[in-house]
Amino acid sequence: MSVVDRQEWDVVVVGAGGAGLRAAIEARERGARTAVICKSLFGKAHTVMAEGGIAAAMGNVNPHDSWQVHFRDTLRGGKFLNQWRMAELHAREAPDRVWELETWGALFDRTDDGRISQRNFGGHEYPRLAHVGDRTGLELIRTLQQKIVALQQEDKKETGDYESRLKVFQECTVTQVLKDGDRVSGVFAYERESGRFFVLEAPAVVIATGGIGKSFKVTSNSWEYTGDGHALALLAGGHLLNMEFVQFHPTGMVWPPSVKGILVTESVRGDGGVLRNSDGKRFMFDYIPDVFKEKYAESEEEGDRWYEDPDHNRRPPELLPRDEVARAINAEVKAGRGSPHGGVFLDVSTRMSAEVIRRRLPSMYHQFKELADVDITAEAMEVGPTCHYVMGGVAVDSDTAAARGVPGLFAAGEVAGGMHGSNRLGGNSLSDLLVFGRRAGLHAAHYAAGTAGRPRVDDAQVATAAAEALRPFSAEGPATGEGQTHPPENPYALHQELQQTMNDLVGIIRRESEMEQALKKLAELRARARRAGIEGHRQFNPGWHLALDLRNMLLVSECVARAALERTESRGGHTREDFPTMNRTWRCVNLLCRLTDPGGPQAASDPVRGQITLSRETTDPIRPDLLALFEKEELVKYLAEEELCA
Ligand code: FAD
Repeated sequence: MSVVDRQEWDVVVVGAGGAGLRAAIEARERGARTAVICKSLFGKAHTVMAEGGIAAAMGNVNPHDSWQVHFRDTLRGGKFLNQWRMAELHAREAPDRVWELETWGALFDRTDDGRISQRNFGGHEYPRLAHVGDRTGLELIRTLQQKIVALQQEDKKETGDYESRLKVFQECTVTQVLKDGDRVSGVFAYERESGRFFVLEAPAVVIATGGIGKSFKVTSNSWEYTGDGHALALLAGGHLLNMEFVQFHPTGMVWPPSVKGILVTESVRGDGGVLRNSDGKRFMFDYIPDVFKEKYAESEEEGDRWYEDPDHNRRPPELLPRDEVARAINAEVKAGRGSPHGGVFLDVSTRMSAEVIRRRLPSMYHQFKELADVDITAEAMEVGPTCHYVMGGVAVDSDTAAARGVPGLFAAGEVAGGMHGSNRLGGNSLSDLLVFGRRAGLHAAHYAAGTAGRPRVDDAQVATAAAEALRPFSAEGPATGEGQTHPPENPYALHQELQQTMNDLVGIIRRESEMEQALKKLAELRARARRAGIEGHRQFNPGWHLALDLRNMLLVSECVARAALERTESRGGHTREDFPTMNRTWRCVNLLCRLTDPGGPQAASDPVRGQITLSRETTDPIRPDLLALFEKEELVKYLAEEELCA
């Protein structure tokens, strides 16, 4: 095997979305030599697609807002399963992170008196989302990139080299976190264009790789979302927390088929859009769950008045948390009251002038015009649920973002679990990226500075990682029995089967028998994926890249299915038809997945031999001063008897 290039860094950040870039900026500012590595082009991360805004209790539009109200909304949205300390840090620190972005050059939309404007979103009591039209993620990434370039210019002045302290490796994919004993020692990666392998050695690695949506057939997620970071953490010995919680956003496009799943931002409803069924009825009034009854309008008139006078009216039920709205749409379609292409109608055309729609929702206007030939200023959109976000993720320490059980590994952003409990509120991801991206960078830099002696990268591990990455080039199908072999498996066909399985059997509404069927199918796919073969060479070969991504998608999908089968209740992004209600005793239970290793050390790079094992742990009791932010009558709906008495 050819020698694999190696470089030494203090901190390696895997992922250049909002979380990764914010982590890298912080690590570099704390003096750590920092490398960022990302599978797409620099600036093309999934975060760019974020539309609606960043949730932060700045109180610019309604002065009653505060971090305490934001914390309360986040816990209600997550049905009290959130890692409460994360939710507290997030609510307290989000405003500073938004103001900081502004000092770095972000141009947010303004209020009439010149402050950062904030819009309404589902589950948020007050207008809270700082935004840039419906292109907020683009501005966020542009600003963070600009900050990185500014830091590189400083470094050039001091050292003569732009990349001496902060370097971006774009279009490079990490396939393995390397370890020296228990500790992290770096990452193994390949360059997508050339297929060249290389190693970045570092005592601290921050995983910021985003989500898992590409394991599902209908999704708003981009091609990068193959659960790589989740799988990298599992393979490195980390734990995945509460993977059963997958968010199905209520409003994805349903037509034409080629664009099915693409997101229709929640700002459409935040700005006044309403949902109707085929009878023209605003059906969400029929789906307000008891726990939310006091907070939502009883009539269309009251809901409509709320947009003008939110202090004296309750919000319309179109702005319930996403899980509630997605289930309601699903139920309407199932009851035969859906739109012609299997969704429901989302209408802004009768609610706002064409000029206002084009100004406030420019991307939505163009998206529907260009992709579906629908003019949303004149007609309703057809929408339905789409797999959007994963609440489950790498189990981390709330304050430091350190991954549990793997010294030197950190995780932030969508790949990290805990912050959002069983369901994320819209806008809380972008703020999560900034708050915990910063914390991960800070603590990774501290950790790297404090390690006694650099960890050693083991040649044997590098050789195993390289052999594993090359396997698809020599894969063979099973023996025919006549001394020959069948052709290898096609990675694209395997991917399609996986997506169909997850969509049909572990989707928005789940049943025991279907999830058991899914687990059987996933085991079969895992064995077949080991025989996935490709043609051609290592230079930009998408079939090869997919064959490698399959390992990650299959591991993560199995975690989702196992945890979903185990949790016998419905909560947030996990709905069981056979256990349709939320069960208070499950509030105290976290489900953790690990890859156990019956095959010895080799199995770490050969996950088909490893096994996903699931364990339960009791959640930390919520700190009393935080519980005191809620009325006792509300807590009774969520907390078990013992917790209320404690
Ligand atoms: P990402 O931005 O996805 O970045 C992941 C990075 O990891 C990428 O650079 C990728 O190349 C890299 N990567 C992945 N695997 C590897 C690997 N193996 N090796 C190297 N690099 C790798 N949230 C909100 O709060 N507000 C919104 O308005 C909003 N709108 C949204 C609209 C859409 C259409 C979608 C899909 C999501 C939206 N979200 C929104 C959610 C939010 O955008 C994401 O949760 C968030 O951007 C995730 O950021 P991240 O930094 O964790 O990951």
